[in-house]
Amino acid sequence: MAASSAHSTMQPLSRHVAVIGAGASGLVAARELRREGHTVVVFERGDQLGGTWVYTPEVESDPIGLNPNRNIVHSSMYQSLRTNLPREIMGFRDYPFVAKEGDDEERDPRRFPGHREVLKYLNDFAGEFGISEMVRFETEVVLVGLVDGGKWNVKSKSKRGEDFEEVFDAVVVCCGHYTKPRVAEIPGISTWKGKQIHSHNYRTSETFRDQVVVVIGSSSSAFDISRDIAGVAKEVHIASRSLADETINKKPGYDNMWFHSMIKSVHEDGSVVFPDGSVVLADFILHCTGYKYHFPFLETNGIVTVDEDDNRVGPLFKHVFPPALAPSLSFVGVPWKTVPFPNFELQSKWIAGVLSNRITLPSKEEMMEDVNAFYLLLEGSGTPKRYTHDLTSFRDEYADCLAAQCGCTVSEEWRKQMLLTVAKNWFVRPNTYHDEWDDNHLVLQAYEDFRKYTI
Ligand code: FAD
Repeated sequence: MAASSAHSTMQPLSRHVAVIGAGASGLVAARELRREGHTVVVFERGDQLGGTWVYTPEVESDPIGLNPNRNIVHSSMYQSLRTNLPREIMGFRDYPFVAKEGDDEERDPRRFPGHREVLKYLNDFAGEFGISEMVRFETEVVLVGLVDGGKWNVKSKSKRGEDFEEVFDAVVVCCGHYTKPRVAEIPGISTWKGKQIHSHNYRTSETFRDQVVVVIGSSSSAFDISRDIAGVAKEVHIASRSLADETINKKPGYDNMWFHSMIKSVHEDGSVVFPDGSVVLADFILHCTGYKYHFPFLETNGIVTVDEDDNRVGPLFKHVFPPALAPSLSFVGVPWKTVPFPNFELQSKWIAGVLSNRITLPSKEEMMEDVNAFYLLLEGSGTPKRYTHDLTSFRDEYADCLAAQCGCTVSEEWRKQMLLTVAKNWFVRPNTYHDEWDDNHLVLQAYEDFRKYTI
């Protein structure tokens, strides 16, 4: 992942750019594109900005999310959600997510705030930079297709039923990837008589009162939701493929929660069998098993493929530009297990700078070589394809690489250190990391650094 930056001496260009989605990635993309002199239209199918941070009690008609004819609800937020990152590293680099002082009692000053505070922060951001004026709300993009001259035809549909068709010089895809559920494959599931739900449709614990629930997954959502449910459920059993076959442990601090390895099979009588032979008669299976990339509107004649089962969008140079279509098509927010907002900001600066000719990309061949070398690296290290966009092992390197591409300063050292201490705290204090920590010295450094943006 070599970091190199090429700054161009060509005439600056202003392009007409479509941004799809007004979540965190679309908002910062719109800001960066306009800063760079482009004209921008942001298409947003919802009636407000914020994307996944717009909590709604509404759920989909198919709780497990497999029926293609179900109503689609975009957000996966549950009522109790607090951020799993502290606000100091979570916010955009030049618009820190600092606790707001003042008389707005609805603000949540906690270091790991609830989801409403994140939505307010995104609204503050949009207000500060005048982004809403670029957004066409309640307008869904239904087709993005190539036209002659390397431009893009964008077809959209408003909620009122109007159809639009416009040509753009470039399209930036910012539509998120936490909406289409991925579910676990379980032997016997077609005849199992219990109920199934995906975490996408989890809102509150009430549905699970006095029930026996098997939660599949080992992400922060799986643990958050398990803790939520344990307060009302009869039993909670967490099944995870990352736990060894013989695992069956009671979760410390809980008398109704157990860890198991992944379910072996389920049966018509409602039983759920684990590899160690233990059997649970369950009412619910709750899949906290992640999501699939899904860009149903994108038509690139096969140049960009979305492998939903194996979780790869490609080929993408540094997870952003498809070499053959760069720079007129780009993606913000594809990587996961990262610190999303600052990455969105750097990816957007890069895209905006390349579109204006300020920054030069490597040749298409060089970009393709880089992608192939990356795929080989994954293969060589035995990393399954589904982890293509998982940045766990490259987090800092990737952020530094993006910063170099767009000529920005690399991440401050306190950010890197704070992410490490937070990751350690998730492990050491899984139930209390939101409220107990040991890195106040880094918080002080962060706020010292923020002074250049907040004073
Ligand atoms: P989204 O927020 O999903 O926004 C995409 C937007 O695109 C939506 O508004 C949608 O309506 C719109 N859209 C989609 N398709 C179309 C279309 N065809 N036409 C028009 N508009 C369209 N990140 C953190 O930093 N900290 C956390 O603590 C954290 N917790 C999370 C908890 C959960 C449960 C989930 C699901 C995610 C969490 N994340 C967290 C990650 C979070 O998704 C990202 O931080 C970020 O908000 C994603 O922004 P986005 O703009 O890429 O996507």
